[in-house]
Amino acid sequence: MTNYSKRTQMVHGGVRRSQYGELSEAMFMTQAFVYPNAEAAEARFVGAGEDEFIYARYGNPTNRMFEDRIAMLEGTEDAFACTSGMAAVNGALMALTKAGDHVVSSRALFGSCLYVLEEVLGRFGVEITLVDGTDNAAWEAAIRPDTRLVFFESISNPTLEVVDMAHVVKCAHAVGALVVADNAMITPVYSYAAKLGADLVVYSTTKHVDGQGRMLGGAICGSRELIRGPIETYMKHTGGAINPFAAWTHLKALETIDLRVRAQSESAIKVVEALSGHEKLSFVNYPTHPSHRQYDLAISQAPSAGTVLAFEVKGGKEACFTFLNALEIFIISNNFADAKSIATHPATTTHQRLPQEQKDELGISDGLVRLSVGLEDPSDLIADLMQALDRL
Ligand SMILES: *Cc1c(COP(=O)(O)O)cnc(C)c1O
Repeated sequence: MTNYSKRTQMVHGGVRRSQYGELSEAMFMTQAFVYPNAEAAEARFVGAGEDEFIYARYGNPTNRMFEDRIAMLEGTEDAFACTSGMAAVNGALMALTKAGDHVVSSRALFGSCLYVLEEVLGRFGVEITLVDGTDNAAWEAAIRPDTRLVFFESISNPTLEVVDMAHVVKCAHAVGALVVADNAMITPVYSYAAKLGADLVVYSTTKHVDGQGRMLGGAICGSRELIRGPIETYMKHTGGAINPFAAWTHLKALETIDLRVRAQSESAIKVVEALSGHEKLSFVNYPTHPSHRQYDLAISQAPSAGTVLAFEVKGGKEACFTFLNALEIFIISNNFADAKSIATHPATTTHQRLPQEQKDELGISDGLVRLSVGLEDPSDLIADLMQALDRL
């Protein structure tokens, strides 16, 4: 498949057909696998080939199809599919660090990622340094000869800060540290992480891969050496493998991801343009719009920042809630990357538990709204936003 474009690969990549010759990929709902005789069982346990399976926690043909297909999309040799995005983040971090290691991470992180870094790794004696991910000098100052691993969200949620990935990778690799990029926001369609040298790219496939709000899932993409080495070993023994139903859903969803994400991202920039300069808003934030303070960097890395934007409603929480409650198409929810457009108020939901000073530091104000742009007609979405802003 390697000669074909990603869109073709996403339809045909990784297929394993059974003896029945099914057109649509089969879902192998089985926990274990059987052997024709005791010798074959013994041989399988001595060394299972690429298409030989033992137990679903270790691997499954449906999971393997999904892993091959998402690795093709990311442009890495291999991938391991996980129960959720957090299983992927936890797996990548836990599999590669040990007591006494030093880890540097950007500060603007998804709350659960911050928990794994500070609480879990911290408890096992890993030292964490948090930096402003947009500040190249801060990365240079924080990365030390004993730094084992560097972690960041390529584009942060919900504040849409952009990491200069080539620079951070260069600093990390200069001291032999591994780079793990959490790529949920930039999406696998616009990803540049593998191309710019990230060693592992982690996805919450709950987001754009599923794209229709059904299943949790995750994936860790990288070299065969890392994926089938420390990552698979850690994941298979600690129970983080995706279940075959979720793997099948996400495998089939990859067939349409290019069309969906491109359409949603084109709508997102139209929404940004419609909202820019609106008198009821203090700012609109979208990295690949020229008004973003990191526009030059963002556009040099990817042609689009994806399906999510943020803005601040003037008048604080009260005005913001009036606006949110007036929306007719946008659904109030905490998820993103769905076919249905979603509006989120991070300060009172996803980031509610952060202390005020941390909210201030990250820019999560009472007026901040995160919008996830779905597959609806963008003119309907813009009209919905405008009528809700008119209520203010
Ligand atoms: C959603 C998300 C996760 C966690 O993914 P789940 O599938 O919900 O476990 C991790 N990182 C980022 C940036 C996310 O947006």
